[in-house]
Amino acid sequence: MPVRVLPDFLINQIAAGEVVERPASVVKELIENALDAGADQIVIDVVDGGRTLISVIDNGAGISAADLPRVVMRHATSKLPTDDLLNINYMGFRGEALPSIASVSDMTIDSMARGASHGWRLDVSTGDVRPSDWDTGTRVRVENLFSRTPARLKFLRGDRAEMMSVLEVVKRLAMARPDVGFALNNKWFFGKNQDLSARIASVMGDDVVGRMLGVDATSGTNGDMKLSGFISQPTLRRASSVDQYLFVNGRPVKDKVLVGALRAAYMDVMHAREFPLCALYLTLNPRNVDVNVSPAKTEVHFLEPSHVRAFIIKSLRDALARTVNEAVNENVAQSHPAPVWSGVQMNLRTMPKMEQTQPKTNTNFSSRLFVASPHRAPDTAFMGAPTATLNTDDIAENLPLGRVIGQIANKYILAQSGDNLVIIDQHAAHERITYEKLRTHAIKTQPLLTPIVVNMRAEEVSAVLTVSDELRACGIDIDAFGDDAIAISAVPSDWNLDWADAFHAIADEVRANGHSSAIQERLHLKLANFACHHSVRAGQKLDMNQMNALLRDIENTPRAGECNHGRPVYKIIPIVEIDGWFERV
Ligand code: ADP
Ligand code: MG
Repeated sequence: MPVRVLPDFLINQIAAGEVVERPASVVKELIENALDAGADQIVIDVVDGGRTLISVIDNGAGISAADLPRVVMRHATSKLPTDDLLNINYMGFRGEALPSIASVSDMTIDSMARGASHGWRLDVSTGDVRPSDWDTGTRVRVENLFSRTPARLKFLRGDRAEMMSVLEVVKRLAMARPDVGFALNNKWFFGKNQDLSARIASVMGDDVVGRMLGVDATSGTNGDMKLSGFISQPTLRRASSVDQYLFVNGRPVKDKVLVGALRAAYMDVMHAREFPLCALYLTLNPRNVDVNVSPAKTEVHFLEPSHVRAFIIKSLRDALARTVNEAVNENVAQSHPAPVWSGVQMNLRTMPKMEQTQPKTNTNFSSRLFVASPHRAPDTAFMGAPTATLNTDDIAENLPLGRVIGQIANKYILAQSGDNLVIIDQHAAHERITYEKLRTHAIKTQPLLTPIVVNMRAEEVSAVLTVSDELRACGIDIDAFGDDAIAISAVPSDWNLDWADAFHAIADEVRANGHSSAIQERLHLKLANFACHHSVRAGQKLDMNQMNALLRDIENTPRAGECNHGRPVYKIIPIVEIDGWFERV
């Protein structure tokens, strides 16, 4: 067969196979273009799950008449002014999306460049560019998606399922840019200029209010990496990763390193089958991350993945390891929330030619309702709430969980602390204490008189050696032992397991993901089981001394808010709330 240089329309359809998987991917590319054009209002309409029509309207910079025919040419972009692929400041840069989408649909673009006297319309199928009365920003209309590629059409799911994928895409980009207003099908609205906590509540749902922890961390002395955002308290979780929003340099990503680090950070406090919620924004020098890895640009390659992973785990663990003291103070501060409503609503009246939309009212949330960042000093934070009162002896004596009143149902301890009633689940509390004690104990390394030698393939040996620092942090010292074995010279004291088995698992994981949580997971499981079986049981009668001692122990235990299965350890009920029950307010 002779070699054939493929015609452009085929090349574009082949490229479309990668970029335009389904309607949601079209919506993603069009919104990214609108954001790149500096829009702060974006209106998306999707008909029949995107099969019939996808329309994205923005109020960005627009496209000049001269540029209009070029935007649908392959590898034509305004976003790479220099030839430096490592210095990317836009969501797009490949110049592929519009030509790919146009090759599998009927596309028209209306646009007016800022400063022009009127707008222009490009009909991509004919190549015609004509004057139009379009007068702000850009509208891209994509009709009859995949009608020319029936094979693709067959792979689409039902309209409702495609619509849900579109909504997911819109939510992800809305989380990337809380400052930008989004409207989807006149039904979902994310108001312009929301602060992050308000945007999180409108995207993830009202149940997150008051249950997110702030994260704000910088790595290294010269601040080469920054992590900010919110993560959920361990008692707030989902059955899937739907509400995990991860961003690298402003770009929504689905990245193994980040997901793995998130999971590892929660390992002590959440079951592996449950998923914490998060909106986490990692910023690092663009030179240390390659975003040009997948056509859809959702994957990234870090130059130093283990460095990134370690930084994230540490930052998140710090946020999670909050003391009881802070929790009690914050709870009181929250019971008198200052009514700071952000009052942000999407105002589309400033945008001509937009479909009429009604703002959704529940996008208003007070950022005060979020649990504050663990990095601030708890006392100052507390003083910051002018109406709160907590000047009691118990706190002065540093007994945040207060004094025991008694036990009920042989299961719960009741205590009074200042103006709060505290209810403690005795089993969960004891489990957490035992677990934390064991954990610090287990990390103690015990040198072995005779090193354990594990035979493995050369590539497994080199994989395992790349995580030797992480292993050392877990109390395990290893070294190469010839080309095809490792020698284990120290392990956590009295920790027996099948080392050969463990190290093959670690090697597999490192080779697949560039890191390993296998060892931490095994350690965690073992400790959790041990803690559970050596803890005070529910149903066990305790005397006052035992109960008071338990409370003092919890106060000095990190991550005391939850047991190691993620159940709450204690609840704090402000007396004012009880007053409310009896209408004494
Ligand atoms: P890329 O975004 O990678 O540059 P695209 O094919 O998505 O490639 O878009 C090609 C070009 O069209 C962009 O570089 C930009 O100049 C222009 N463009 C696309 N959409 C818009 C828009 N909504 N507003 C202004 N310009 C746009
Ligand atoms: Mg683009």
